[in-house]
Amino acid sequence: MGDRIDFRDGRWIVPDRPVIPFIEGDGTGPDIWRAARRVFEATVQKVSDGKRRVEWLEVLAGEKAFKTVGSWLPDATLDTIRQHRVAIKGPLTTPVGGGIRSLNVSLRQLLDLYACIRPVRYFEGVPSPMREPQKLDVVIFRENIEDVYSGVEYRAQSSEADAVIEFLTEHFKAKIRPGSAIGIKPMSKFGSQRLVAKAIQYAIQSGRKSVTLVHKGNIMKFTEGGFREWGYEVAKQRFGEQTVPEEDPGRGKGDGGRVVIKDRITDAMFAQLVLRPDDYSVIAAPNLNGDLLSDAAAAQVGGLGLAPGGNVGDGYAVFEATHGTAPKYANLNKINPSSVILSGAMMFEELGWSDVAAAIVRGLAGAIKARRVTYDLARLMPNATEVSTSTFADCIIEHV
Ligand code: NAD
Repeated sequence: MGDRIDFRDGRWIVPDRPVIPFIEGDGTGPDIWRAARRVFEATVQKVSDGKRRVEWLEVLAGEKAFKTVGSWLPDATLDTIRQHRVAIKGPLTTPVGGGIRSLNVSLRQLLDLYACIRPVRYFEGVPSPMREPQKLDVVIFRENIEDVYSGVEYRAQSSEADAVIEFLTEHFKAKIRPGSAIGIKPMSKFGSQRLVAKAIQYAIQSGRKSVTLVHKGNIMKFTEGGFREWGYEVAKQRFGEQTVPEEDPGRGKGDGGRVVIKDRITDAMFAQLVLRPDDYSVIAAPNLNGDLLSDAAAAQVGGLGLAPGGNVGDGYAVFEATHGTAPKYANLNKINPSSVILSGAMMFEELGWSDVAAAIVRGLAGAIKARRVTYDLARLMPNATEVSTSTFADCIIEHV
């Protein structure tokens, strides 16, 4: 029997036998979850000498939930995740044309998971389009709730869009073509600052050198420009001793071990990640910028198949594979389980089991370096041996 994870005074309280709910996912989900779970169990056992152990608790979502209990997203699943605070999930089918809620959106709203965290780093041996892919090692904190993704959007020529246009034209002399579709971009000081604060906290705790605020404030002065301004402000007010702005005239040549806070315009940032990747470490961005940057950065180091992700709030977190269900490979024991495995490493890191997280990453890096990899990597890597999902998990465990 396990115990519940708790969260008090801004800290996770993690028992030696935490109960962690999981959603295995649709399509190839069961294949990759089986492999990942074996890697997690073997690593926790090995690193803690058997003292720690996760009690996995299955919760239903997606096709499996629909077949079993007639709902794509049962309330019981949301309740269980809320009770246990931390969960991990495989990919889920998004049914086309149904009026169902998306699990990610539901969880994000219910648990206020305001930071989407995506670490992007290179693993030796993985084929990449870059000459020096190892130079990119960033952790992207993307705001998850606000911005143009907040869902305040009206169809062209709808009464809502027409009313908004009429209001803005009449009261603020805004120039908007009649009949336009309208989307609203709300960005708050509260929402921006808690995201930036989380990124800075992470940088301090993990000994990273800088946090870069990525924004388009040169054009969108009050929303994106606000993000920049509020970001610097929270750095100064809450982390004044541990951070220093890049432009600080007193900074001279050194930063005294403090985290440097800098900002870049979004378009320049895409170029910077390609041209000077090692100038960047932690990145904090509004929702849309962060979304685009995460996938572009992942492509630089060899694609989404290896990219993990986590949606994190205060006292709640859900970690997930960032790819889809890849249905044509379902039940073939063929697909690459790395994304969900690295998401698990992120989860253990968040919970303070850094030893487990490091061991999982070491195991995965070892398996890739030994060139015993799943088909997606094997077909692009010279002298690689293609192995199945489950054998790849064995290779990881060998290298832990
Ligand atoms: P997909 O990610 O499933 O597949 C895209 C391509 O990548 C395919 O060629 C697939 O074979 C390959 N691929 C994906 N994951 C891989 C892995 N781990 N190893 C090797 N190759 C891999 O995207 P899709 O085909 O657009 O979507 C399929 C389903 O997944 C849809 O129902 C979609 O809504 C859903 N989806 C879910 C999530 C999620 O739950 N987070 C994310 C994206 C898509």
